Amino acid sequence: MTSPSPTGADTAVLIVAAGRGSRFGGDVPKQYRLLAGKPVLMRTLEAFAAVLPSAALCVVIHPDDLRLYDAAIEALAPQIKAQLTAPALGGASRQDSGRNGLDALAALNKKIVLIHDAARPFVSDALICDAVRAARKFGAAVPGFAVTDTIKQIDAAGAVAATPDRSSLRAVQTPQAFDFALIRAAHAAAKGRELTDDAAVAEAAGHKVHVFDGDPRNMKITTAGDLAVAESRLLRDLPDIRTGQGYDVHAFTAGDAVILGGVSIAHDKKLLGHSDADVLMHAVTDAIFGALADGDIGSHFPPSDPQWKGAASEIFLRYAVDRVRQRGGAIAHIDATVVCERPKVGPHRDAIRARLADIMALPVSRVAVKATTSERLGFTGREEGIAALAMATVRLPVGED
Ligand code: MG
Repeated sequence: MTSPSPTGADTAVLIVAAGRGSRFGGDVPKQYRLLAGKPVLMRTLEAFAAVLPSAALCVVIHPDDLRLYDAAIEALAPQIKAQLTAPALGGASRQDSGRNGLDALAALNKKIVLIHDAARPFVSDALICDAVRAARKFGAAVPGFAVTDTIKQIDAAGAVAATPDRSSLRAVQTPQAFDFALIRAAHAAAKGRELTDDAAVAEAAGHKVHVFDGDPRNMKITTAGDLAVAESRLLRDLPDIRTGQGYDVHAFTAGDAVILGGVSIAHDKKLLGHSDADVLMHAVTDAIFGALADGDIGSHFPPSDPQWKGAASEIFLRYAVDRVRQRGGAIAHIDATVVCERPKVGPHRDAIRARLADIMALPVSRVAVKATTSERLGFTGREEGIAALAMATVRLPVGED
């Protein structure tokens, strides 16, 4: 298919994100989970907006997920937010959700609609273009690819009932692509019947559904294992690996707690500093600035500036993480060490890792926190203060400089 790339002015994209993710486990449905620091849904929306900057984008969400949805779209670029319609609310089944979404889009009078699973963030530019062209040409079309495994049909007892000819089978993905009026009428006619996907809805209405080439990379994130695979794949796509170090010291003064990695630990002293004196978070923040060769915490947040007096250090860390994202990169790993005789850090290690991971939007498995004493030697040994060291491994796209 070689027609010029469409901008999507006559196209709507319906992203179905109403699933509960029962196969995924955990509280947050998979489409709202973070993938290399960005919600899966945000990545999916960005993929469509990049190819179809004039299309209307509508997300079908579960009625309980409005806050998750708002959080997932919060950091989208303003021009993408401008493409979004209000979210449609999902129904009891995938089919109900699709129908509700189409009803919500009807007033826009679009010619073409692409219906896509929110949990497929790797949809490629080429696949989106092919879907739009196939919808124009055929009225109803789905991406599919030949299956390499032999497929067995089984009976109720689990025994093989038939072995279909593999050459006639296709594994089907999304975006499924339709003439808008065709699929909306087909959904209205199929109300109350249980059909597997939007293509089946079109088939039930008597339409021929064309199959165009799908993309094996367009994986659906269904399980926690899929999310880990997707995370690794995104990091692999960022080949410029950089390492930064950070080091910080704060002195003790009279007090009753120290803050380390955003966690308050009861102690008979506190740390002295212009901000909240979170020595560990400062070292981590500087390690990230170091990996970017982008100054240090003092140059971005001068201690002479009164607005940072008593500031929560997570402001600094979130800013450093944003600088990584602005470069199109991702943090691959953080490793930090706290040096002090007291308080004992070990019992708080997992709470600190969880807090730092949350602020940086990383899996906890990518954040290491260690602690050591200095054998009563030096200023840390004399309990005059705490030192912290950190290393950040950051991955950036190629071709920056
Ligand atoms: Mg400091």
